[in-house]
Amino acid sequence: MSDLNKLSLAEARDALRNGDVTSVELTEACLKAIDAADVLNAFVHKTPEIALERAKAADERIKAGDAPAMCGLPIGIKDLFCTKGVPSQAASKILDGFKPEYESTVSQRLADAGAVMLGKLNMDEFAMGSSNETSVYGNAVNPWRRGNDDAQLTPGGSSGGSASAVAADLCLAATGTDTGGSIRQPAAFTGITGIKPTYGRCSRWGIVAFASSLDQAGPMTKNVRDAAIMLEAMCGHDPKDSTSAELAVPNFEAMLTGDIKGKKIGIPKEYRMDGMPAEIEKLWADGAEMLKAAGAEIVDISLPHTKYALPAYYVIAPAEASSNLARYDGVRYGRRAQLAQGDGITEMYEKTRAEGFGHEVQRRVMVGTYVLSAGFYDAYYNRARKVRTLIKKDFEDVFAAGVDAILTPATPSAAFGLGEMTEADPVQMYLNDVFTVTVNLAGLPGISVPAGLDGQGLPLGLQLIGRPWEEGDLLNTAYALENAAGFVAKPGKWW
Ligand code: GLN
Repeated sequence: MSDLNKLSLAEARDALRNGDVTSVELTEACLKAIDAADVLNAFVHKTPEIALERAKAADERIKAGDAPAMCGLPIGIKDLFCTKGVPSQAASKILDGFKPEYESTVSQRLADAGAVMLGKLNMDEFAMGSSNETSVYGNAVNPWRRGNDDAQLTPGGSSGGSASAVAADLCLAATGTDTGGSIRQPAAFTGITGIKPTYGRCSRWGIVAFASSLDQAGPMTKNVRDAAIMLEAMCGHDPKDSTSAELAVPNFEAMLTGDIKGKKIGIPKEYRMDGMPAEIEKLWADGAEMLKAAGAEIVDISLPHTKYALPAYYVIAPAEASSNLARYDGVRYGRRAQLAQGDGITEMYEKTRAEGFGHEVQRRVMVGTYVLSAGFYDAYYNRARKVRTLIKKDFEDVFAAGVDAILTPATPSAAFGLGEMTEADPVQMYLNDVFTVTVNLAGLPGISVPAGLDGQGLPLGLQLIGRPWEEGDLLNTAYALENAAGFVAKPGKWW
């Protein structure tokens, strides 16, 4: 078999079980592809020794007829996940040199399921961003380009390295995390599939915290079937995370029948934004037609509080971040600033945090501290929490009226150029999350599926939002959409 790194998880799993390929061969193909793609800056800590050791162990298990779900499948892990003995820096200078003594529950579950870790993936610092331009490692690069233009594009963020690596076939799949869109937006920008499960489906233990009431891990994969396989391996109850749900995990892959006859799909009118590019409008309408042709009923719905979602998110997320990031003080983790004679503990905190955190992280800490301060707490933080409840209720109402899933665009545009937004007002960047943050605020599952190309040949994604805990049903609707859209384009290889 050739081009083993290009296989999907399902294809590689079946080839492994049939004895057509070994995990060592698959792993070596990925390691070679990674080394040839340094210009994408997707993998920021490579772990070839760990990978080959796990691949050999996986081959033994397969030979012994004991192959769990992900046995022998090479994947990448976002730098936000703590991985024992391997740098886990959340793409921040302040965690320089940090090698955790423990493994996150999600990466441990994947390892227990036999997955092979190839290394750690680039991301925005502390997962704050939509373009992977806030990383201490430098930008990750999208393997896609606009036609013949060689300008480098963002793979999206914050899981930009994960998206770039999967789209460029450096690994079979990758983990991501999503606080306001960081799995779905980069998936859309790179023509891959990404699902953020229901809040509480995946354990947050051992994942560097950004905004704890919004953060969720999820898979970033080459197709919907792979998302089902990997999500099942990642999730489940964990006593170490009190917000992880005590619910059985279904066999998601077995739920992929492609039959969506009679399902009610809602089209929310509030997602039709002013100035939305015609291409996105068309993609959305085409997606609705495809679902209809597959037997679903399309209904117009209203989610009236949508317009308050971004402002509420950009109060709540920084508030939680400012509290979570208080632990980086130069004492317990990573890096401490050089101190001058006579400096005390206050100077140590100040200097360490001033040089250890990048601009965007500092901005969030300041906004968060402000909205939580005694004089402004009610005006900002408490008000945002009330708005969040209303946004959640909007969704509850449409689900109670019988809607099974909601179809929206995943992003307001295709991938933009690296550097194009850095000079802009930060709010311009925040607008990228307009279709995704509502889902985190309401704690719902959401998936982005590649559905078409724009006029310049860049991928565009559609988002499906599901009922809480019904990821199986959501994945099946996404599978029907994927089958109808027939998206098979790949980036032309230039790296
Ligand atoms: N882009 C959003 C932010 O910067 C979402 C990030 C995320 O989901 N981690 O907050």
